Amino acid sequence: MKKLVVMAQIALVPMAFANDIDVAFVVDQVVVEQQGREWVDHEIAQAISLSNQTLETAGIEERRVVRRVFIEADGAVSQATLASQGALAGIWQAREEATDLKFTHYDNVVWVVPQSGNWDRVGNAGLSYPEDNIPHIAVASVEVGERLSQLIAHELGHLDSLKHGHAEQHFAETGEYTLMYPHLAEMGEVVITADDISDIQYAANPAEDDVYAYLGSVRPSAPAPLASVTMQVDQTRVDLNAGTVEVALDLSEPLEQSVSVEFFTQSGTATAGDDYEENVHRVEFLPRQTDAAASVRLYTDAQRSAGEVFSIGIRYGDAVSAEGQVELALPVNQTQDNNSGGGSTGPLAMIGLALIALWRRNKEGV
Ligand SMILES: [Zn+2]
Repeated sequence: MKKLVVMAQIALVPMAFANDIDVAFVVDQVVVEQQGREWVDHEIAQAISLSNQTLETAGIEERRVVRRVFIEADGAVSQATLASQGALAGIWQAREEATDLKFTHYDNVVWVVPQSGNWDRVGNAGLSYPEDNIPHIAVASVEVGERLSQLIAHELGHLDSLKHGHAEQHFAETGEYTLMYPHLAEMGEVVITADDISDIQYAANPAEDDVYAYLGSVRPSAPAPLASVTMQVDQTRVDLNAGTVEVALDLSEPLEQSVSVEFFTQSGTATAGDDYEENVHRVEFLPRQTDAAASVRLYTDAQRSAGEVFSIGIRYGDAVSAEGQVELALPVNQTQDNNSGGGSTGPLAMIGLALIALWRRNKEGV
């Protein structure tokens, strides 16, 4: 076992906004099996970025933040969306599911399902939680492929009261597609314009439109975290022969309840499937447990040029804060040798593994 070298640690102060719009995603297990979890995470990140660009352009103070991704097997929303009404039926089912207490603290819940039974309704949004009159819920079908992020951002736009009319008018006048243009299959690159977001002004002012009071009624975030989980970079071990990286996770104090965080890999120039095995899963700390570990399998026979990197990190704490990401730089590996994987003479075994850390400051400050 070899100790990793920390090349750099940089503290980043996260952007803080007065009101975070807390978003949870519920992703069907089939989507993860077919597309890979890293692909799903990429689409989610793109969608939230587009959505926040829209809010910023509209001069709205709130920003969306992903708090949790739930993976669900054979979910009722996926089943309902398969019916002939497509995502319209899905959204009605989603309203039933949203009564689950686990969704209490989220302003938006977005279901990502494998398929819609109606191609004209691959996404839908709206419908309140049962106890209020504020639209929270969206459904998006992954069959739109690389446009999933646009579809999700479009449906989140509907939650913010955006409608199609301005987007269609803008397209007729300029030939540009904006986020709320309703015909996804025709669309090219999306531009965010003030034309497209004019409806949102009503959402920001509850007095103007009671139905879309949502942006004036962002829910309180989840209760303050009980403790924090960090990745212990100086205890990270790499076994070059076995092709594994193992990272230690540390809970700041023992707790009387079980808590969990999500460990994740994220492709950079080194990619999942080519250089390492994708690994996104929740790590649980049982009551009184303060140490845990996560590992990533490296492909020791992958061909690589210099300095290819990927990231590992922790996020989406349940009752604890967890925010940290480090970038791993893999060594050059020019000689492909299919017999070397796992052997003691593989090229990877002879070259060190460098680690560059980009630590984010713990947002909750615990
Ligand atoms: Zn629409």
